[in-house]
Amino acid sequence: MGMDTDFTSLVLEIFKKCAGRSGCEVCREHMEEDCLFFPEMYRLHDLAEETGIPPAEMDLACLVDLCTLCGLCPCQDIRMLVLKAKAARAEDKKPPLSTRFLSDARQAGQWGTAFSAVIHPLNRLNPVTTLAKKFLDIHPQRSLPVFPKTSFFAWARNRGLTTPVEHTEKDVPKVAYFAGCSAGYLFPDVAKAAVGLLEQNGIQVFVPSQDCCTMPLIIEGNQKTAEKRIQANLETLGACMQDGYDIVCSCPTCGYFFKNLLKETAYYSEAFQLRADAGDNRMQVPTGARNKKFTFVPMGIYKTFLKDDGYFSGIDPLQRIDLSLNVQDLGEYLLARHKTGQLSISLKEPGRPLAYFAPCHQREQHIGHPYVEMIQSLPGTDIIPVGGEMHCCGMGGHLGFKTGFHDHSLAIGGSLFDRLADAYGRTVITDCLSCRMQLQHVFSRQVFHPLELLTAV
Ligand code: SF4
Ligand code: SF4
Repeated sequence: MGMDTDFTSLVLEIFKKCAGRSGCEVCREHMEEDCLFFPEMYRLHDLAEETGIPPAEMDLACLVDLCTLCGLCPCQDIRMLVLKAKAARAEDKKPPLSTRFLSDARQAGQWGTAFSAVIHPLNRLNPVTTLAKKFLDIHPQRSLPVFPKTSFFAWARNRGLTTPVEHTEKDVPKVAYFAGCSAGYLFPDVAKAAVGLLEQNGIQVFVPSQDCCTMPLIIEGNQKTAEKRIQANLETLGACMQDGYDIVCSCPTCGYFFKNLLKETAYYSEAFQLRADAGDNRMQVPTGARNKKFTFVPMGIYKTFLKDDGYFSGIDPLQRIDLSLNVQDLGEYLLARHKTGQLSISLKEPGRPLAYFAPCHQREQHIGHPYVEMIQSLPGTDIIPVGGEMHCCGMGGHLGFKTGFHDHSLAIGGSLFDRLADAYGRTVITDCLSCRMQLQHVFSRQVFHPLELLTAV
């Protein structure tokens, strides 16, 4: 059976689980507006049922391209099947160079910052930008990303932040800061603001060597490269955990990846069962989406389908679990300190009316809205949350730049854009830099990360 058939059978497995005679139909209406994948999947399924002709492979390929991995659908195993299908497809038909370049955020960032002195002046010449967009398959209406001269990582190195914190007194907190590629290479001011706020509050910051979290790679099916990068991150962040650092991410997508996606089926592994001392006849399994509570189930019944055989099962399950339990969103970390009186913060412009959009990958971490909570607790502030539980900006990381996905991306974000248009006059803040690029494109005005508006008192 070739990889091509694997691709088809993986997608048809989704059809069987979510549609089909005995399939679940929950997402048929539930995901109608906020995701393009489900309506198209049901359309293809119904057409095949009516005509008796199976869906064409090209239609299935276009279908999996519609998933941005926003995480809003109810079932993790369906998302993992989509990821597997994307990987099988990429294995069978190598994605074009432009896709490989755009989805390799670390490499694109390193090149972009290294050559920014050359790129900047050329960017002002229309024929050059048109050619660059054509080469990179970027939609003509999108602006090319503007790379700074110095990446956050180079700045951090110059400030000595890439050297581990030494001899910290017991009560002095220290964090290992995972900035992510967007803040690292495109928006270094966000990462610098994070460092500034932490340092002003007496928290020692270490910026360990870090690779891309790999979300853009897996969205494009590049599983092999992703596995190498994940392994590198597990080694460095694992060492940070051992050395007593709190690990924090300011990017919701990196946080979602480490906390939610990466651990996937790791709790069903033999290694975890041994560590949990579950015994010979039973398994200890997590209950609920957040994997905070566990129960025991009889091994005989469950071991046939509760296995660590998912997308990331080639990577040590215990390392995956330990990292997922030790990573915190930076807002979550700061709010915990704020609540215990260990954080001094104020808004740089207290009276400024703000509208906060909680990105999908932030909401999927189920940590509430820490930045809103912190800002609302400050006197004289005016902030409203905008967007509901199912709203997505549609950008999907780099996907919104792509010629073939640009219109889809705007269609997904449509209802959120209407809500934000109603909040006209307020400064929009969001902690996802991909959402920021999308909202800046749609509204042609500056969008901020909450960290950029905060300072110590
Ligand atoms: S994703 Fe889950 S809830 Fe939605 S249709 Fe499929 S099985 Fe049902
Ligand atoms: S992850 Fe998002 S885009 Fe993908 S199927 Fe689920 S809801 Fe749709």
